[in-house]
Amino acid sequence: MREPVVVGNWKMHTTLAEARSLAEGIRNGCRGLAGVHVVLCPPFTALAAVSEVLAGSGILLGAQDCHWATHGAYTGAVSPVQVADAGARVVILGHSERRQLYGETDALIARKLAVAMETGLTPVLCIGEDLRVRDSGGAAVHLAEQVHAVASAVTSGPIVVAYEPIWAIGTGRNASGALCAETVGEVRSAISRFWSRSDVAVLYGGSVTPENVEDLVTNGAIDGFLVGGASLDSSKFLAIYTALVRT
Ligand code: PEP
Repeated sequence: MREPVVVGNWKMHTTLAEARSLAEGIRNGCRGLAGVHVVLCPPFTALAAVSEVLAGSGILLGAQDCHWATHGAYTGAVSPVQVADAGARVVILGHSERRQLYGETDALIARKLAVAMETGLTPVLCIGEDLRVRDSGGAAVHLAEQVHAVASAVTSGPIVVAYEPIWAIGTGRNASGALCAETVGEVRSAISRFWSRSDVAVLYGGSVTPENVEDLVTNGAIDGFLVGGASLDSSKFLAIYTALVRT
């Protein structure tokens, strides 16, 4: 079943003290509100600490990435088993920053996806086009290719897709509600065609703020948000969450 979800991606921000305090603010603000899943993705170093803060709250913990192997001689890497052991139930995979800055390919992301699902983590698979592809009219084909490329790794287990146009991430320039609705529809078609699934929640990510969230939720096309910058401020994140709860 597609269920609404809002995911906070804290990226490479927060000390332990800051992570605890931010998680407490969000946990306290979410009390009494229901109907939308909340996932917080702190850096690896803060997973265990944030897990303690969230215990019993219903808010899920997520990692921002994981390795394609469960263990082994991979200096500096963190495995899906390790993030699960630290309390994570969710993992972001294929974020455009991983694709662009660390050269992650669809093939590598498919390997990560397979092992994450086998470990029992729910992947949030990020896909999205750059400005050149968007302007040339190739976004739908590009997104379908990204969905197709990982099809062999997707099981019947829980998985979420985040449509994140690269030109909107951290730029302050978000997709309009109308463009978002149209593109999310194309992503759903690709999921249905290549994964034979209709139960996958599709989120939007890219400069979502309390100011633009109403435009994004009004047409009801999206199942939630992946939030970067605004998730570092509990009041902004809670405003986005509340807008989703209301719809
Ligand atoms: C993200 O990192 O996935 C993201 C959407 O970032 P921002 O909200 O800052 O654009």
